[in-house]
Amino acid sequence: MRPVYLVPVLALIGLINLQLCEAADPDIYLDYESLLPPAQEWSGKSESLLMSPGDEWATPAELTGLSATPSYEETVAWLRKLVTAAPQLEMVSIGKSLQGRDFWMVIANADGQFTPAALSGSGKPLLLVHAGIHSGEIDGKDAGLMLLRDMTVAAKRADLLHGSNLLFIPILNVDGHERSSPYGRINQRGPVEMGWRTNARNLNLNRDFTKLDTEGVRAVVRVLNEWQPDLYLDLHVTDGADYQYDITFGGNGRSGWSPAIGAWIEDVYRPAIDRALTAHGHEPGPLIFTANGEDMRDGFLSWTGNPRFSNGYGDAIHLPTVLVENHSLKPYKRRVLGTYVLLAETLALLAREQGSLEAATATDRTSRPVSIPLAFERNKKPAAEAVAFKGVRSERYAGQVSGAETVRWTGEPVNQELRQFKVDVPTTVVEVPKAYIIPAAWSNIAERMALHGIEVQRLSEAQALKAEFYRLHGAGVAQSSLWTPSIFEGHVRIDPGTPEKQVMEATFPTGSFRVDTDQPLGKLVVLMLEPEAPDSFLQWGFFLEIFNRTEYAEAYVLEPLAQAMLEEIPGLRQRFEQKLAGDEAFAASSYLRLMWFYEQTPFYDQRFLLYPVARIPRAE
Ligand SMILES: [Zn+2]
Repeated sequence: MRPVYLVPVLALIGLINLQLCEAADPDIYLDYESLLPPAQEWSGKSESLLMSPGDEWATPAELTGLSATPSYEETVAWLRKLVTAAPQLEMVSIGKSLQGRDFWMVIANADGQFTPAALSGSGKPLLLVHAGIHSGEIDGKDAGLMLLRDMTVAAKRADLLHGSNLLFIPILNVDGHERSSPYGRINQRGPVEMGWRTNARNLNLNRDFTKLDTEGVRAVVRVLNEWQPDLYLDLHVTDGADYQYDITFGGNGRSGWSPAIGAWIEDVYRPAIDRALTAHGHEPGPLIFTANGEDMRDGFLSWTGNPRFSNGYGDAIHLPTVLVENHSLKPYKRRVLGTYVLLAETLALLAREQGSLEAATATDRTSRPVSIPLAFERNKKPAAEAVAFKGVRSERYAGQVSGAETVRWTGEPVNQELRQFKVDVPTTVVEVPKAYIIPAAWSNIAERMALHGIEVQRLSEAQALKAEFYRLHGAGVAQSSLWTPSIFEGHVRIDPGTPEKQVMEATFPTGSFRVDTDQPLGKLVVLMLEPEAPDSFLQWGFFLEIFNRTEYAEAYVLEPLAQAMLEEIPGLRQRFEQKLAGDEAFAASSYLRLMWFYEQTPFYDQRFLLYPVARIPRAE
């Protein structure tokens, strides 16, 4: 049956309306929820948080019984009305999208003070939350609207602002939010229409935290620098497997770049939030990624994200960051209410645990290890202890279309003991240099680093230093993988091969950019400038120019030059003859023979495959 609110809608896709065919959609597309694993019956104490639709301050989503979510315009209009009525709230634009929409942020402070200095001077901890970085995953927006109301005009939770301040960005990917239709996410139970994952240029904001291509993430990074929040929440909805948990969350683990913060999230934050959610009838769990395939039979993965992701970025810059993933197969109402409880308890916890959080953050911000891992891979062995897991029974059947074994969930809850695989084995560990020097010609790199709040100095006079450079003989376009195609997020991904370190005396001219690692964001500097780091500018294809040789030599000059070299350079003839004897392809190619000589002359391009960013070793 087609509910009345599911009248087919032509999606408003930003500035352009696209409709590929005139035919009405078959019912099965709109009734796709019947194809999903069975929904679990649920009722919980958090339902009492709902305001009745007759109340003046019911949110647009509450007016639909939390089945639909308001448009950008409706959301902004409702917030304006709330902010006008509530002296504790202010709304500011933190930037504009590609299609010209403001990114709105609500500032909540009990004393009606709305500047970074006033909030910092209040002595209260500051929480930053954004919803809709993937705008089909919009639960956090509707939960946040309810909570802002309850902390102010409804006076139900005014206590929360006595202990903490809040910055709330209701919709981060605003253009994607307006690419709204019933077809945004086939694996999600509501709202009835939802936005799209990527922005107006098809970029995924949650892959953009180091390279900063998108206006949305640039706006977030500006907020981080100007407002200096103590805790940061990024609100999502999952894809993937079925299980009993309705809300999962976590940081980047204990073995990343901020181990003290990782421990605080696990040991202080998680137990308090779990208690509050459970008391309100929710089922909280850790972030869940399947170890293999679609269900949990091979165990689950505890992930350490790279800094392209919000949680990996928070880890790299020592900002306590929690990724929240509501379970996409739970109905919208349950997900929104769980998010409300999580946000409210987070504010309450911050007030109680301000001291322990500040201590953990200070520990990580001041640590200066001599070497750091650039990325982590999966430990092939499971963790020693099995993990209690609240799963849903699954079975396999022969897919007639795919021709493959396919998973199906039965809806029956099962409590399992699962093997846990941690993604915590460092792939490459590098020694942290004293500084990096970026040539003036690569000012775009220095500019992007400065946007992060990294201190970048320009050399006011030339400096001669012993420096380390990487020669990237084995580098090339990275092979496509399932999650990272060769052309990815508007870039050509580069595999650095095995960089060969070369020590040289170099003179760095006036105007070069020097970036010291002895600063709070020093680890991020390393993760952006070491070629072997997955989110380095090199791997994101910002240095494609170095992969072309641009000066040439012809045989008419190389043949006599090679003869002269053989006469004059001791030992060269012997090496040449060895090469001829040992390498058939070489011996057969007049081109390769002459190139072998050319490469040994100063005429050859000394900068070919040379990564231009220098490392200044600690001893200097
Ligand atoms: Zn997401």
